[in-house]
Amino acid sequence: MKWLKFLKSPKGKTTIHQIEVESISIEITRKKIKNIHLRVYPPLATVKISAPLKMDIDAIRTFAVTKLDWIKQHRSRMLGKERESQREFISGESHYFLGKSYVLEILESNEKPSVSINEDKLVLRIKPDISAEERESIVHAWYRAQLKILVPQYFAKWEGVMNVKVNEFGIKKMKTKWGTCNVVKKRIWVNLELAKKSLDCLEYLVVHEMVHLLERSHNHRFVAFMDKFLPDWRVRKAELNRYSVRQDD
Ligand SMILES: [Zn+2]
Repeated sequence: MKWLKFLKSPKGKTTIHQIEVESISIEITRKKIKNIHLRVYPPLATVKISAPLKMDIDAIRTFAVTKLDWIKQHRSRMLGKERESQREFISGESHYFLGKSYVLEILESNEKPSVSINEDKLVLRIKPDISAEERESIVHAWYRAQLKILVPQYFAKWEGVMNVKVNEFGIKKMKTKWGTCNVVKKRIWVNLELAKKSLDCLEYLVVHEMVHLLERSHNHRFVAFMDKFLPDWRVRKAELNRYSVRQDD
C-alpha cells in the first residue's frame, strides 16, 4: 500500500486523495458527511470512498483493507460483465444507439443481413448460425453508416458559422480518443463508439474537432471559441465522458 498523489487539503474543505491497496487504485474524498461510503463504479470498476472530514487517512485506509474482499468481488463481477456484453450480440442484450438503450432482437432471415430500429428494439436480421463476431461487425457497419449520414450534417451546419472547411472525414475505432483533427489536411476522424452517444454529444465532438481548424491547441483561445459556438459544451462533454476513458482530442 502506498501513496500516489496528494492533491490538496485546505482546512475544513473537501480533499481528494488517491491511494493504492494491493494495486487497486482508490479515490478518497473527504467532505462534510457523517458516514463513510464505499462504491465501485461502472464500467471500469473505479473504486471511490467518501469519508467524513474528521476521519484520518489511516482510519480510511484500514477501512479499505477490511473491505478488500468485497471490493475485489464487485470489481471482477463488473469487469467480467463488461467484457461479456462487448462480445455476445444475442437477443435480449441492451445496445445503445444515439444515447438510447435498445433491446437487441435477432431474427432469422436468408436475405442480406440488416439492422433496423423498431420502437425500443434494435432488430438484427441474419442467417442462422452467424458467429458473434459477424453479428458484431454487422451492427458496427450499421453504426458506421448512420454516422456517415449524421456527421456531415453537422459539418454543413457549422462550416458556415465557423468559416472553416472540412476536407476529409472518416470513422474508425479508437481506444483512447473520441476524435482527431489533422489541421493541415483538414481531416477529421470520429470514433465509431460515438454512434452509441446522444446527438448532443456527437455534435459537441464534431464542433470540438472543427474548432481545431481555428486553433490547434486546447488553450484559452480554443475555449473561447467553444464558449462562443456551443455555450453548453461542458455539459455535453461531461455526458460524453461519463463512463469512458476516451478523450476528445
Ligand atoms: Zn481537441
